[in-house]
Amino acid sequence: MGCYIIKNQKVAIGDSLFLKGEKALIAQDNIAKHTIIFLYEDTATDQRTRTSIQVAVDKHIEPGDFGAFANHSCEPNTQIIANYDEERNVAQILMLSIKPIRKGEEITFDYATTETTVTSGLLNKACLCGSKNCRGKITGFNELSAPHQMELLANESTANYLQLTE
Ligand SMILES: [Zn+2]
Repeated sequence: MGCYIIKNQKVAIGDSLFLKGEKALIAQDNIAKHTIIFLYEDTATDQRTRTSIQVAVDKHIEPGDFGAFANHSCEPNTQIIANYDEERNVAQILMLSIKPIRKGEEITFDYATTETTVTSGLLNKACLCGSKNCRGKITGFNELSAPHQMELLANESTANYLQLTE
């Protein structure tokens, strides 16, 4: 059974700003860069789902009834840092702001920085994040073009189990 060790009180579940009819994490106040949005711990499984977050090669956790509402953006305002304890098969995921977030903004992260791929229901779905550098579709890291993979690897917000596929 998973639990939140930290849950930022300035963030609440609300309506997504770019996914019509879907829920999202919304900042209720201004949030500084390098602020913890949540820290969550749970037992890892082999199951990738629509809401799971990858924590190691073939290991995933469900990010709870709060983190599950974090949507993808190609230009996100947070990153996920996962720490997987292989011996206990337990993982912690930390969501951290990587830029100042203004009140009312949606909290997002880049799925391709944690997931080697995504579920078939999500893969290649049109991305509606609206960012200037939107990739146009939702994918995991392995489906990105080599330049995009290199770009993500060059910034430090990419999980250590993700590697160039070409
Ligand atoms: Zn996008």
